[in-house]
Amino acid sequence: MIAYVGIGANLGDARANVADALARLATLAGSRLLAQSSAWRTAPIDSSGDDYINAVACIDTTLGAQDLLAALQAIELAHGRERPYRNAPRTLDLDILLYNDERIDSAALQVPHPRMLERAFVLAPLLEIAPSIDVPGHGPARGYLAGVAGQAIERLN
Ligand code: AMP
Repeated sequence: MIAYVGIGANLGDARANVADALARLATLAGSRLLAQSSAWRTAPIDSSGDDYINAVACIDTTLGAQDLLAALQAIELAHGRERPYRNAPRTLDLDILLYNDERIDSAALQVPHPRMLERAFVLAPLLEIAPSIDVPGHGPARGYLAGVAGQAIERLN
């Protein structure tokens, strides 16, 4: 299965946390890291604190979507993420953006990630590694870039 994973951090050494998340994804059981975007810097949306560092990874995985979510949450936990309140600043946030061409709508997991097309910090790194990607139910992701043009975002490397 091909999955796209969104990575975000805005506490501590955010760049190092994103790099470590990528390294952990590369060694995830039953998975292979196929592509990783650059690190991108954005101002926080619906959140507070420092700028965010974001990236997107593409993995080939034998994990089912729920097991992948559990694996991502274990990586978040390894980074000591606490959730004192909704959208609090976080050391590391990992989201399943896309899982094959599946549409999943369970209590614990919605795929495609419901807000991915509204956020430059998802679209820019996603389109960097997958310029022609389609989002199930929504068509080409690149069609949504114009809608996030007002969100300042900077590619770091
Ligand atoms: P957040 O605080 O943004 O990391 O949200 C975490 C919660 O979102 C978890 O409890 C997940 O069950 C839920 N969730 C729903 N859909 C997704 C998704 N596509 N990727 C990651 N978490 C998801």
